[in-house]
Amino acid sequence: MLNLEGVRGAEMEFPVDVDVIYEGERISRDEAFVELGGKSTGVELLRVTLPEYIEDGTVKLKGADFSEMEAGKSYPFGLFVKITGERLEEDVEGVLERRIHEFISYIQGVVHRNSRDKVLIRVGKNAVEKGLTLKHIGAALIQLLKKEYKAIEKAEVEIFTQGEEVEKLLAQAREVYRSRDEKAAKLKDEEVDVFYGCAMCQNHAANHVCIISPSRISGCGVISWLEARAAAKIGEGAIFEVPKGSIIDENKGEFEGVNKAVTDKSRGATTKVYLHSLFDYPHTQCSCTQAIIFYIPEVDGFGIVDSSFKGKTPFGMSFSTLMKQIGNGAQHSGFTGVGLAYLRSPKFLQGDGGWSRVVWMPSHLKSDLRDAIPPEVYDRIATEKDACDLKALENFLRARGYPIPQDRVEKHISTEKPEEAPPGQRQPIVHAPTRRHVKLTFINSEIRFKKLIITGEKEKNI
Ligand code: SF4
Repeated sequence: MLNLEGVRGAEMEFPVDVDVIYEGERISRDEAFVELGGKSTGVELLRVTLPEYIEDGTVKLKGADFSEMEAGKSYPFGLFVKITGERLEEDVEGVLERRIHEFISYIQGVVHRNSRDKVLIRVGKNAVEKGLTLKHIGAALIQLLKKEYKAIEKAEVEIFTQGEEVEKLLAQAREVYRSRDEKAAKLKDEEVDVFYGCAMCQNHAANHVCIISPSRISGCGVISWLEARAAAKIGEGAIFEVPKGSIIDENKGEFEGVNKAVTDKSRGATTKVYLHSLFDYPHTQCSCTQAIIFYIPEVDGFGIVDSSFKGKTPFGMSFSTLMKQIGNGAQHSGFTGVGLAYLRSPKFLQGDGGWSRVVWMPSHLKSDLRDAIPPEVYDRIATEKDACDLKALENFLRARGYPIPQDRVEKHISTEKPEEAPPGQRQPIVHAPTRRHVKLTFINSEIRFKKLIITGEKEKNI
């Protein structure tokens, strides 16, 4: 149990433990009493406000608590956190909002996923049987925020589980997210001397370090450079300064100071990072990533898939399968996890040709990004409606004049279906997109293959 001594409002008794050790807890659908958000709307918003608008330590619930919910159902969920403090600026909101994910996950029997308007919370049957209520969740959140950030003088939580109220919060939250993202997009990497880093997710993705620059928002999509700066200023939490140092490769986004910081914070597992390139030393990712960009060697182009797309990418993997393979904090050449706002960045993969190389993305994402995608490439980006496998993607792109090197297509395309993994085991990667030069580094690893097939061109330099 966390020591919450001295935290105002910490007198509430909890029927379950609240501790960092529960952060990696898993709750299957069968073990869950209910899901909040997920299939229904799930939204969270944190705002800094004036002290007079806050009833310190209060949790207000509008809608049903667990005792009035039906087991096995999914319910809409809205969480509104109000905080105040003399040292708190509006820019700190995104960072503190991101910590809701972590703090709710500390509650035994509760699993929290994602952020902003994509929240999913699973509440275990055991926790509800022991007497856990939504008010306990709100109270734990207030106490953990106050414990971690001494700058928070007062905090109040409102929880909504009634559809209409949740939709009202959703509309308000989307407006706030939009204005935060717009404000952050005005700055450029070259206008600042300091970037920021975050290692908050190392408890589920060992060695993962997010580098947050004006042109590249965090992978979870919640922490912009401005918000990271505000968080670093109050001097608490997991955000740290990263002096840029000298520029090593402007196009790919390689900086001396970034390499130094990731080497240090990843304990030497990652020593070099390109902020704006997918190849060789791409930015690492954890399971909070909003979208994955992946190289498709068969057509020499990039695909993008976001967490809300439930279908499969043209090489047969869904977002969640891909995430299980790469969301481990390691570098995977040909893949990078990004916050959705990075897709609007003027530096979007500039080291690799940017939008001119994008060939596939889900239709809803393509339509959301209509104003950000250059008009000359918009129509030749395929979606799940145009291409659900590699052959269809190749045909779509050829018909639109996208330059696919012929030799690559014939060598890589396979009609084999990925083998289903036994329950509880990871799906094996059947198509592992790589570049021509492949470096594999295994540290303290034991690897067993039932069958390993490596295909491709002969390398002269290996
Ligand atoms: S995804 Fe990155 S920025 Fe977001 S909380 Fe995790 S480490 Fe921090």
